[in-house]
Amino acid sequence: MQGRKQMQIHAYQQLLLNEKANVLASLGFRPVAVAGEGRLGEEDQAQVSNDEFVSLRLNNLEYQKLRLLNAALDRLREGEYGICTRCDKPIPSRRLQVLPWAKYCVPCQEHIMLNEAEEEFDASSSGSFDEVH
Ligand SMILES: [Zn+2]
Repeated sequence: MQGRKQMQIHAYQQLLLNEKANVLASLGFRPVAVAGEGRLGEEDQAQVSNDEFVSLRLNNLEYQKLRLLNAALDRLREGEYGICTRCDKPIPSRRLQVLPWAKYCVPCQEHIMLNEAEEEFDASSSGSFDEVH
């Protein structure tokens, strides 16, 4: 079981890294080595950060996606990937295959879309909003 899960995680990591490469390319970065994450030296990292900052204004949507991708990769590293960050339930693999950077399960995503303003407060205040339905 554990081995199978590890393989899935690896597959998602590849999906995320591929998508990240696409986003970076559309943001105007030179193609990054998808298989060699972590190969960048300190100086390259600084350069990328600066480029990211410049692109932020030019390409906000792509940049947002990049942030989602980076966050998903962080969760992968921390072993929290595939867990809804709002309700702590597993996100169905069907959803992850379509949306590998998904942060929330479907009910939570819908809830957040209907209550956009709440999202900012979400992290620290679980339970303070009564469910109406
Ligand atoms: Zn959820």
